[in-house]
Amino acid sequence: MRVPRSVRDADVAGKTVLVRADLNVPLDDGRITDDTRIRASLPTIRFLLERGAAVILASHLGRPKGKVNDALRLKPVADRLGQLLGRNVRMTGDALGPGVQVAIGKLRPGDLLLLENLRFHAEEEANDPGFAKALADMADIYVNDAFGSAHRAHASTEGVAHLVKPAVSGFLMEKELRYLGEALGDPKRPFVAVLGGAKVSGKIDLIEALLPKVDEILIGGAMACTFFRAMGLSVGRSLVEEDRVDMARQLLERAGKKLVLPRGGVIASELKEGITSLTVLRDRIPHGFAVYDVDPSTVREFTDRIVRAGTVLWNGPMGVFETPPFDAGTRAVALALAEATAAGAITIVGGGDSAAAVVQAGLADQMTHVSTGGGAALEFLEGKVLPGVAALDDV
Ligand code: ADP
Ligand code: MG
Repeated sequence: MRVPRSVRDADVAGKTVLVRADLNVPLDDGRITDDTRIRASLPTIRFLLERGAAVILASHLGRPKGKVNDALRLKPVADRLGQLLGRNVRMTGDALGPGVQVAIGKLRPGDLLLLENLRFHAEEEANDPGFAKALADMADIYVNDAFGSAHRAHASTEGVAHLVKPAVSGFLMEKELRYLGEALGDPKRPFVAVLGGAKVSGKIDLIEALLPKVDEILIGGAMACTFFRAMGLSVGRSLVEEDRVDMARQLLERAGKKLVLPRGGVIASELKEGITSLTVLRDRIPHGFAVYDVDPSTVREFTDRIVRAGTVLWNGPMGVFETPPFDAGTRAVALALAEATAAGAITIVGGGDSAAAVVQAGLADQMTHVSTGGGAALEFLEGKVLPGVAALDDV
């Protein structure tokens, strides 16, 4: 695996440093519901400020699609960041333009300036060379710490890295690449992958990439139902991707014992919080019902396998964890990973919803690593090149 040059080795004192961070936090009516990504960006920001760099921080937030959207301003992020750093965080009214230039001109060593949402400009996602140049002209050094955006070739993640030298990785980027990279490259065995989520179609490349590397893949989530169908079982109203059943059958044949499917599921007639649910074996799913979680016997089997593992990689919840009681399987797997960590295993959670589930369960600090990159982690684990990483300087 290619390792980019680190900010640790850059001479930053007295320099103006542009830091692309991933401060794309979930918001509910202007309130940040999970500040994990802001916290994860702190080590790089603190390091630069302490070394006497002037820091220009840039990020996107949500999907404003190239237009100014007041609900997606970075103000709540600036406030939260200010609380965490114990200092006032100044912001610009735009990501670039004359006002920004004036603000940058006034920066002194140890100052921090947060640019407004990059995606208010369509040029950001279009990787427009002029936009990348405008960003590049702001700084002497570029630091990419936005692992969660590294799978996108955007102006602030890719274009700019070719124009500012040095272009190095931040500490979060470094940590993500190290943990995910080591899991794939040199895993402590047994190496167990736990995959779930809604759709098998989004995880085919991941299964293909992991099959030769892992000892076992435990499958949960709605994804399991497509495999059930491939085994000739009836799945009622469960979410099934009909056009992937053949492929699931082929995977089952090829993977042999490596693919472990749920023994049964928790079913209900509809998806509603607190609805009456039943536990059935996988060959007993009645018409009119859908599987919304893995059953307790599956939880026991998965837990046994997880706690014996040397490395556990988890992507995708085991059920509809947003709607109790269908969160039980996902919580139990999170607990099993925590137990595995305590027993000395390397446990890695990659995937937006799985990471959210671990945070929700209060178990994030009992994992070796919870990736901040949903799609980026997935693409990395699939063995794809991340453009935001590829554009950085080599060691
Ligand atoms: P991640 O973001 O961790 O990669 P995914 O996005 O692939 O995970 O999948 C998460 C979604 O899968 C959740 O919204 C969850 O409700 C859904 N899901 C899991 N199990 C089921 C199921 N049995 N039926 C319907 N949806 C499910
Ligand atoms: Mg998701």
